[in-house]
Amino acid sequence: MIDFENWREVARAQHEHTTQDGYWNDTSIGEHLAHLHSEVSELFEAYRNNPDRLCDKGINITAEEEEMADIYLILLDLVHKRGINLAEAARKKFEFNKTRDIRKMNP
Ligand SMILES: [Mg+2]
Repeated sequence: MIDFENWREVARAQHEHTTQDGYWNDTSIGEHLAHLHSEVSELFEAYRNNPDRLCDKGINITAEEEEMADIYLILLDLVHKRGINLAEAARKKFEFNKTRDIRKMNP
């Protein structure tokens, strides 16, 4: 059973899944980023339509939750592939961002 509160475990499991499926055999980092971007677009569409409607997968989550989950899983797959310590990077960037004027922030 995957501990979905533990991002490292989710990243490992997601990467294991996509590797077993052969996704990474013919997918470049650029294509992966395009896939991530497409999920952000799907989230945008969910907001345009109705983010609170149930998704069409029969898994009792909203369209908004579905697309955010897709973004989370795809990002963590790449994080694991690249060996990135996401928590540490996010902590450092968060602390840096706090020093900036949020109205002018371009992360
Ligand atoms: Mg999606």
